[in-house]
Amino acid sequence: MSKHRQEIWENELAKCIKCGTCRSVCQVFQSVDDESYVARGKMRLVDAYLNNKINLTDGLAQRMSMCLMCKACTASCPSGVKTDRVFLEMRNYLAEEKGLSKVKRMAFTWLKYRNIFDFSLRFGAFFQGLVFKGLPDRNGRIPRFPIPVAGFNQRRIIPTLAKRPLRSMLPEVVKIDKPKMRVAFFTGCMMNYVYPESGLALVDVLRANDIEVVTPKKQQCCGTPIFTSGDFKTGRLLVKQNLTAFCDLDVDAIVAGCASGGVAWKHEFQTILEEDDEMLPVAKKLAEKSYDISEFLSKIELNNNFGRVEKTVTYHDPCHLNRGQGISKEPRDLIKAIPGIKFIEMSHADNCCGSGGSFNLSYYEVSRDINNKKVKSIGEVKPDIVLTGCSACRMHIEDGLFQSGLNIPVRHTIELLAESYRKQGVI
Ligand code: SF4
Ligand code: SF4
Repeated sequence: MSKHRQEIWENELAKCIKCGTCRSVCQVFQSVDDESYVARGKMRLVDAYLNNKINLTDGLAQRMSMCLMCKACTASCPSGVKTDRVFLEMRNYLAEEKGLSKVKRMAFTWLKYRNIFDFSLRFGAFFQGLVFKGLPDRNGRIPRFPIPVAGFNQRRIIPTLAKRPLRSMLPEVVKIDKPKMRVAFFTGCMMNYVYPESGLALVDVLRANDIEVVTPKKQQCCGTPIFTSGDFKTGRLLVKQNLTAFCDLDVDAIVAGCASGGVAWKHEFQTILEEDDEMLPVAKKLAEKSYDISEFLSKIELNNNFGRVEKTVTYHDPCHLNRGQGISKEPRDLIKAIPGIKFIEMSHADNCCGSGGSFNLSYYEVSRDINNKKVKSIGEVKPDIVLTGCSACRMHIEDGLFQSGLNIPVRHTIELLAESYRKQGVI
């Protein structure tokens, strides 16, 4: 085992005072009611492994994978234990020592080759009706038959793949006469292939603020699903491809519309390149000018020529935006700035929705149990729309609302801003 990894574990384990505060915030623990799934229990397992009391068993691997990586334990820990880092390192170690599942190996190889990934999703969009049937009143589909290998049962709703990916609809540069600023847009996979309307809205809102937008065609998946599964080697490859695609652009900022992509650009690229002398400085430099879109808009002199939108809305905090980047006020301020909007805070808005990357595919029933609480909070508010800043949360909440028979649309916050500008004829 590397000395670096051992030091991380030993330092963090030494800080844990075993107080159990993490039990009160861990959604997984609250669902399964088993100490070995909460941060304190997981830390004890890592400690037991380091002290040769247990081996790298399947049980240990399962405890590590059954985690939303929601950072709720990290944020609430009175001793400042970086639980997220401990678990990430253990996932990486498990992947190195025991290998990944066949499904993950195949999926990550596929993600690694941008052109093949792009082609297969376009192909999939064309033929998705053969495997998934459309629903009359929703933008979503349900599988015609169970697909356990992909984690799909016949009752879960998944969003329709877009006919055209976002990046194929956008020119590499959306030019503006006399631009005030120039930014690069990191689209993320979900906005590119599933919710391109969010990406188009983001570009429109930037245009409405006289900002030129560069969308590099060679950008890639941020690698989050890959490196959080423990495959740092493939993750590093994608991170480096992204850094290369963005490093020579003459831009004032890099803007992400995706919470996980944003936290990756700001922090996680550096974490997984920690021992890479060549690319780590590039990751650090670009992190300094990386922003989530709501954060970026809160820092500029925003065009406040908003049109009226008469809607009742509520907002769900994505873990990777709230705890990952410390952004919760900015999207709320933007929403409240729109005339006609009635904003109602849902209870426990910052609780994880249960998506957790591939967690909802591997542990659908637990993720449903967690999501039911989110749906209950939404149902109490009775909004016209649920807003959020993460496409993965959006997908999982859409499924939860469908399972509960609630027909409430979920949108990215930026879509509401674009709607308001459109009403005023600004864009
Ligand atoms: S809250 Fe922090 S210190 Fe307390 S048991 Fe959990 S990880 Fe350890
Ligand atoms: S990251 Fe979230 S799910 Fe994982 S142990 Fe911590 S609180 Fe529980």
